[in-house]
Amino acid sequence: MESSPKKKLILLGATGSIGGSTLRVLREHSDRIELVGVAANSNHAELATICHEFKVPNAVLSDQSAYQAAEQAHSFPSETQLSCGETALLELCTLPEADIVLIAVVGACGLKPALTAIEAGKDIALANKELLVLGGAFVIEAAKRNHVRLLPTDSEHNAIFQCIEGHPREHLDKLILTASGGQFRDRAADTLADVTPEEATQHPNWSMGPKITVDSATMANKGLELIEAHWLFGLEPDRLEVVIHPQSIVHSFAQYIDGSILAQLCPPSMTFAIQHCLLYPDRASGTEKTLDFSEAMQLDFKAPDLDRYPCLLLAYEAMRTGGSSPAIYNAANEIAVERFLAKDIGYL
Ligand code: NAD
Ligand code: MG
Repeated sequence: MESSPKKKLILLGATGSIGGSTLRVLREHSDRIELVGVAANSNHAELATICHEFKVPNAVLSDQSAYQAAEQAHSFPSETQLSCGETALLELCTLPEADIVLIAVVGACGLKPALTAIEAGKDIALANKELLVLGGAFVIEAAKRNHVRLLPTDSEHNAIFQCIEGHPREHLDKLILTASGGQFRDRAADTLADVTPEEATQHPNWSMGPKITVDSATMANKGLELIEAHWLFGLEPDRLEVVIHPQSIVHSFAQYIDGSILAQLCPPSMTFAIQHCLLYPDRASGTEKTLDFSEAMQLDFKAPDLDRYPCLLLAYEAMRTGGSSPAIYNAANEIAVERFLAKDIGYL
């Protein structure tokens, strides 16, 4: 049998947490996926290491001084074309040989690269959720018009994608997103004011970048994900629910009109969702230990306490109001998290 040509991937946010999980998948499946472009903000040393290991022909550093430092250090391989700035980042997204762009930069800066890649006809693996919250209407319309796939890489949305594939949409009743509840779900409410950035960037189940780890604690992350689900799956807010599931094994549920519920389960590692998107519609053996039901395991579920997680309530409000409200919700959150991490404001 003739082997199919390798998929050519551009990875934006290569030095981050999702970036690192993606590289693990690529090491396992180098016969199927080839990295043709990478981008990062300022971590030039790590980006250079990635270019050496994966022989990446194109790299972009958004940050000008990081680019200058890399040029001075001659740290990138001579075969890598290194460039800098936003225009270079957008150009990278239109690379003619690329098939798919994985958007794993953090925050609103993901929107322009996503739209550029879609207009260039590239499939998108979407880890960045902020860009859909900010510009979902534009992104969905552009993807339809250009006949490109938007492959959900966020674990909950990837789970739903797997649970609804092949089912008539009119059979679907609602989507139920699982949430860990974050690292303070059992912490006494009257001590939340004292939460420090160090505590808020440690997650019990997932190893992730600092912004999403704080979002997980406040459940602004689940708020963003509700809006993300609204755009990806076309359901209205009253058909999108959240349940707290502390073990992060069930990654979400799709409930059908007859009451049957389908779920997707795997250990809490992003490599499962990333690999599913990168090999889609094919599958292959994974990079991680799978669930083992011969070991004792408990799966708990409970409704979220909205007094503890006001950011969840605000997301429903923003979604129901529509228009630019979700973009405002996202911007307020990005700035609040940035200032909290800079110790400029408190947790509450
Ligand atoms: P991170 O902070 O670990 O990494 C962010 C990456 O983006 C870095 O490589 C950084 O260099 C790059 N970046 C930032 N600004 C940039 C710019 N202007 N130009 C080019 N590159 C830039 O973040 P993360 O945890 O990997 O999260 C990335 C995105 O994926 C977020 O939107 C997050 O919500 C989403 N996500 C993450 C996880 C997870 O497990 N980490 C899970 C689901 C969804
Ligand atoms: Mg998620």
